[in-house]
This record gives sequence, structure tokens and C-alpha cells, in this order.
Amino acid sequence: MKVWTVVNQKGGVGKTTSTISIAGSLSAQGYKVLLLDLDPHASLTYYLGFDAENLTSSLYDVFCQTPSEPFDIKQALQATKIKNVGLLPSHIALSTLDKRFGTAPGKGLVIKKALEQLGSQFDIAIIDCPPVLGVLMVNGLVAANAIVVPTQTEYLALRGLDRMLQTLEQLKPTLQDEVLTLVVATLFDRRVNACLASYTKMRDNYKAHMWRGYIPVDTKFRDASQQGLPINMIVKDSRGAFAYDKLTNELLKYAA
Ligand code: ADP
Ligand code: MG
Repeated sequence: MKVWTVVNQKGGVGKTTSTISIAGSLSAQGYKVLLLDLDPHASLTYYLGFDAENLTSSLYDVFCQTPSEPFDIKQALQATKIKNVGLLPSHIALSTLDKRFGTAPGKGLVIKKALEQLGSQFDIAIIDCPPVLGVLMVNGLVAANAIVVPTQTEYLALRGLDRMLQTLEQLKPTLQDEVLTLVVATLFDRRVNACLASYTKMRDNYKAHMWRGYIPVDTKFRDASQQGLPINMIVKDSRGAFAYDKLTNELLKYAA
């Protein structure tokens, strides 16, 4: 199983939308996909129709296990309405982990080890990270074969991108050797000058990591989230669905 981690230290840049859209694209191509919601806000979990506050098991249990009381990650697994897509849901209690574990050794490997238990049940796991650098984000990054950094095409987001790439550089010794880092321009509107300027700047400054395409602004994403489904299951031939198909194929080419 390969792991693709979606991350940015900024909120509202399209992380959860990217996670669900890539999953939809993979599902349509026949892949078995496992989604992990590592964000204590549980947006992905709610998106998929689950009430994160009332689930009996979640990723929180994976972090709380001890050698004497191990937790089988399969217990937290939920089936979704998307064909061949499973979910390991979030729980608000995930937000307490930084305080509890801080920099305790070994706590960055919890998710990587837990996923190894699943063997070949899934082809690709996609991890939706919180916008906070802490135990959860580190767990997502350490497990990754590919790191996808959605970045809104606007001036302030570029500064966030700088910060995110610096973080990745600092964590490099703990990341997988061959990890692919792909910066993805999101919420791109070609009619807006500020978008065009930011996009050009991104391509100039981050050449090594930039995906050559972009994700356009598309109102169909809102319809999709309302129905709790990926965009390609709502309007297959929308610009948004088409863009995420292209991104997914790029990831399949280099990190599958
Ligand atoms: P994050 O997970 O980074 O906080 P989200 O994926 O939740 O960001 O996106 C934030 C908001 O922007 C959501 O309401 C989402 O529906 C919307 N959105 C994301 N990407 C697009 C897009 N390409 N076009 C239009 N709306 C989008
Ligand atoms: Mg999110």
C-alpha cells in the first residue's frame, strides 16, 4: 500500500477537497482506497456522512493503544458510499495529543506502523492532515510516499507555502527517502489578476516541486460536499473533476 499525504500549515486551501477528489478519481479507476482523517476538526469524516462525535472507534484509539492494550486499526474502519473507499475517522480528542505526547520518541510512527497492519487490503491510503505542525501532521508526513501540498493561488498562501516547505526540509531525516513532494495550485481563477500573479510566482519560485497543472475554482465542489460525494460522482465532466483526474494520474505515475 502506498501512502499519499495531503498537507499545508494553512487552512481553507483545499486539503480536504483534494483528499476526497483524489479518492473519487482512484475509485473510478478501480483502486481500493483508505482515507485517514487526521484533522481533529473532522471535516472529512463529516463530509462522508459520519458524526465524528458519536463513533465508537476512531484514529484516536490508534494513538492511545499500549503494548498491553493494543488496538486493531480495522476496528475503526468504516465503509463509505464511494466504491472501494474506506475511512478511518477523526475524533475531536485528537486535538489533545500534542499536550499528551509532545515530542515523546516513537510517537511519530504510530500511523505508519498501524497502516502496515493492513497489508494489501488497500492500494493507496490518503491522509488528510490538520493545518497545525504537531504530532498528527508529523505522523502523516513520516508515513508518506507522496506529499501533496494544496496551495491557494493568492498572495498570503504563498507565504504559507514557504513555511510548509521549510517544515518539510526540517523533517527530511525522518521522511521516506524517495518521497515525492508535489505543490498543487488550488482555487485558481484565471479571470482574477491576483490569482494569475500568484500562480506565475509559484511556478517561478517552486519549480522543483510544482505540479504543472492547477485546480480551478468550480462551484460543483460545493454541490459535491453537500451530497457527501467526490466531485466526479456528481458531475463527471466538470472542470474540477477533470483537474483532479489529471493530478491523480500524475501521482499514480510517480508514487504508486
Ligand atoms: P482545507 O481542508 O484546506 O481547510 P477545504 O478543502 O475544506 O480546505 O476547502 C475550503 C473551502 O473551499 C470548502 O468550502 C471547499 O468546498 C471550497 N473549495 C475547495 N477547493 C475548491 C475549488 N477548487 N473550487 C471551489 N471551491 C473550493
Ligand atoms: Mg480540511
